[in-house]
Amino acid sequence: IIAGGLVMGMAAIIAASYYLAKRAMIPIEAAWEKQQRFVADASHELRSPLTGIHSNAELMLRHPENTVEQESNRIHTIIKESSRMTKLIASLLTLARSDANKTELQLTQVDLSELIELVSEHFRPLEELEQIQLLVDVVPDLKLVGDKERLHQLLVILLDNAFKYTPKGGRITVAGAKGDKNILFSVQDTGCGIQPENLPHIFDRFFREDKSRSRDKGGIGLGLSIAKWIVDMHAGKITAHSEPGNGATFKVSIPVGKLQKES
Ligand code: ADP
Repeated sequence: IIAGGLVMGMAAIIAASYYLAKRAMIPIEAAWEKQQRFVADASHELRSPLTGIHSNAELMLRHPENTVEQESNRIHTIIKESSRMTKLIASLLTLARSDANKTELQLTQVDLSELIELVSEHFRPLEELEQIQLLVDVVPDLKLVGDKERLHQLLVILLDNAFKYTPKGGRITVAGAKGDKNILFSVQDTGCGIQPENLPHIFDRFFREDKSRSRDKGGIGLGLSIAKWIVDMHAGKITAHSEPGNGATFKVSIPVGKLQKES
């Protein structure tokens, strides 16, 4: 009986250890799978501009008699595809560093009202070029503790998307206000909007509702995942809202932080 009990006990311990080990492995397996998917997607995305560069350069070599004017389309494609690669590599590096927890925020007191005005001014020329109205409705003195460069990047991503996905004649509104303990800002557009079933995936890496439309506009599907990472690093929240055909709104809330309280 004692021996039987011991065997049963041992079996129970082994089963429990196996179960616990298996459970501990689940997050590791998930992280490994996520990493593998990231590498596969990144390789796939890098291959397409490289193919464009390679094939256009080869075709140019086959026709040494052609003038620069005659080859201007190919040259433009090479330039466009290499800028796409540069942008893609910069985004991949940002995300790889974020995965390795290798990025530290350079915290200072940031005047978000000024930053929003500054970034919006950079987009002003697009108002005429794309015939899209850009409205800025931000209260002054929105100060928080944050990384100015990253917050700049966040605003550029949101505004860049708003211009990318809003057709001529549309309107983009950037708003900023003070909450209780947070600073709230949003970028709203009157563009194509996002399908409700896609809203939960919009911040996933390489997610694009319409790959060809995004690609035509120079999109790579990493902007919003970087935006989310920046907001997460500031202990904030970013949400996407949309009614298809009625535009999209991205809302960000960031706690003002210690420095603000002190000041
Ligand atoms: P992309 O480089 O493709 O724009 P993002 O990560 O910035 O990548 O955005 C992911 C996807 O979210 C886009 O491909 C697009 O389908 C959708 N999206 C982002 N912003 C908007 C917007 N303002 N209006 C409509 N769709 C948007």
